[in-house]
Amino acid sequence: MMLKVVKYGDPVLQQEGKLITEFDGKLAALVENMFETMYEEKGCGLAAPQVGESIKLFVMDCSGSNRDPKRRYALINPRIIETKETQVGEEGCLSFPDIYFEVERPRIVTVSAQDIHGKEFTMQVEDLEARCVLHETDHLYGKLFLDYISALKRDLVKRKIKKRIKLGEWD
Ligand SMILES: [Zn+2]
Repeated sequence: MMLKVVKYGDPVLQQEGKLITEFDGKLAALVENMFETMYEEKGCGLAAPQVGESIKLFVMDCSGSNRDPKRRYALINPRIIETKETQVGEEGCLSFPDIYFEVERPRIVTVSAQDIHGKEFTMQVEDLEARCVLHETDHLYGKLFLDYISALKRDLVKRKIKKRIKLGEWD
């Protein structure tokens, strides 16, 4: 089932999500629906607050259009354990349609999380996957990629969004 992706301006995007303690069928169904929504919207990551659920969960698949099932992850209650090196690259967000800008992030990330059964796992990811893990983990704490650019650039982006809200292009 497709879920509605909320856009910047919705308060759910700027609050910390709750820790997940129930690893039940409801959670598994939400994860499936989030994957479906992410693929449909052509994103490589989607966090629960982006579908209006204020909880610590995100899904990701950075393998591109030839979807590699081994690169398909659901991370529940993720914690960033270690970061190394830096990378600069263009970033987008499904809650900011058609808005992209360069963000500096660590290039190598070690993250621990739980899977949909509550089992703990740790993985190390690099490059695009590292960028994705950091961007999506930020969402679970109410932090947005907009927070990484200069105040001047941020004002420009916010003005652009205001215009699109007026035109009814931001829903
Ligand atoms: Zn995002």
